Amino acid sequence: MHGLMMHKQLLISSLIEHADRHHGDTQIVSRRVEGDIHRYTFRDCHRRARQVASALTSLGVQPADRIGTLAWNGYRHLELYYGVSGMGAIVHTINPRLHEDQVAYIANHAEDQYIFFDLTFLPLIKLIAGRCNRVKAFIAMTDHTHMPKDAGIDNLLCYEDLLQQGSADYVWPMLDEDAASTLCYTSGTTGNPKGVLYSHRSSLLHTYAAALPDALNCSARDVILPVVPMFHVNAWGLPYIACMVGAKLVFPGPALDGKSLFELLEVEQVTLCAGVPTVWQGLLGHLEETGQHFSSMKRTIIGGAACPTAMLHRFQEIYGVAVLHVWGMTELSPIGTIGTLKARHLAMSPAERNAVQSKQGRAVFGVDMKIVGADGLELPWDGATSGDLMVRGPWVVRDYFKNESDCSPLLEHAGQAWFPTGDVATIDVDGFMQITDRSKDVIKSGGEWIGSIDLENVAMTHPSVSQAACIAAKHAKWDERPLLVVVRKAQAALTREELLAFYEGKIAKWWTPDDVVFVDTIPLGATGKVLKNRLREQFGDHLLVKAVG
Ligand code: AMP
Repeated sequence: MHGLMMHKQLLISSLIEHADRHHGDTQIVSRRVEGDIHRYTFRDCHRRARQVASALTSLGVQPADRIGTLAWNGYRHLELYYGVSGMGAIVHTINPRLHEDQVAYIANHAEDQYIFFDLTFLPLIKLIAGRCNRVKAFIAMTDHTHMPKDAGIDNLLCYEDLLQQGSADYVWPMLDEDAASTLCYTSGTTGNPKGVLYSHRSSLLHTYAAALPDALNCSARDVILPVVPMFHVNAWGLPYIACMVGAKLVFPGPALDGKSLFELLEVEQVTLCAGVPTVWQGLLGHLEETGQHFSSMKRTIIGGAACPTAMLHRFQEIYGVAVLHVWGMTELSPIGTIGTLKARHLAMSPAERNAVQSKQGRAVFGVDMKIVGADGLELPWDGATSGDLMVRGPWVVRDYFKNESDCSPLLEHAGQAWFPTGDVATIDVDGFMQITDRSKDVIKSGGEWIGSIDLENVAMTHPSVSQAACIAAKHAKWDERPLLVVVRKAQAALTREELLAFYEGKIAKWWTPDDVVFVDTIPLGATGKVLKNRLREQFGDHLLVKAVG
């Protein structure tokens, strides 16, 4: 027998509709690339999102068409989040920090019909425009006055002009909640970047769960500033959460340095922030230099990379800001676990409490997790035994978009499909997961991926290199940076400088390894694979030691 309750599709458009109706005068504040501060309300945003949908319909955009964005966190990007998904098309956020070849690859693989971009990224658009043949037009997210002159791009449109042609009477279509809403590529392990395709349903369920008190604890009394980019897994869902709960939103645009962030936090009286540890290093550094303190900030979400215990201490004990340590992945929409304390942790000393919060946290409802050993059997939750972390749930990826390989990303375990995260972790009796290692071969620098295999491939094409392995070495500012371990060919006199110069033009500049270590042999496992964990044990602290020396 079925229940007798209404069946309403879970749609992204309902979030902005709700925000308009119930929190219509709540503000959205944005630092614009044009340099000024822009201020309007959820009601304005809803009107303009409908204009976006109407204008795109006039341009011939169909349901399921992909619409790319290369943009910072700002109100126009938010309008695209709601306008594009709301009309049934798919908003495809592209990471502008990638090398132009990867950006072109991603736009082509996604078959983007239109690409919206912030003016900052005009040089990038110029580089890729000729290579993206399916793109019907590139749309500069600015007004007529700021449109670039003689940009040399044939099919260039102006966002504000386009919006003028859209009608605010547009009515959101009633879509199937399982329809795709958003596409985000992750450049994790080997090969080309892979697309994770979220649905309206998965996004809405994630939003409900992420807003809960023991999750991000968001409310209509909050002022939320997502530093985490909207091109990184939907800024961890905060643009959706803000609409669901009616929180004021503050967008920092391109100004992510400590001084600019602090200024915005104070002027807008922000209560909740979110970003990777590297961003907070900059902000805390600014506070220490100037002796300033936060006047409104209560909580900060730190994720994307492990939050160092020293950072927890500085935020919590010195600045009185509670840290929410979050673990997630693009494949998880992204939230998996959050380090919110249980009642029995409250009596702990600050040092003990910080040790608990240094762990990546407890699973939010909806995410099922376990750790398994090499034999595939589940391991105990004793806080000591580590194994491969597996997850499943309604906002966990099932397959990659246009997955060309025959392989599913999922593994069958005890009759159920699980997503292997590539992270190695322990889980304690309270359910707090702690990442101890990573089985996937990648480097995460300042919250952004660097493919170690790509770096090795470049090194291996150098005529003097016999063997090369690239590992994540610990770094004080960027958390991890690439370190190249190289065996030279016999009699070759290759230097560090020559090898690093060899990377020029072949990869994004910030991917260049920080250092090269020359060795006689590289350790190999039984199947001939490089033992990266052995190299990490040996050279993991190389950059820290070098910095001190
Ligand atoms: P992404 O798909 O770019 O969001 O990256 C996801 C990966 O980042 C995870 O699989 C982890 O390896 C790493 N990661 C994310 N959050 C944390 C965290 N709090 N601590 C340690 N690693 C993290």
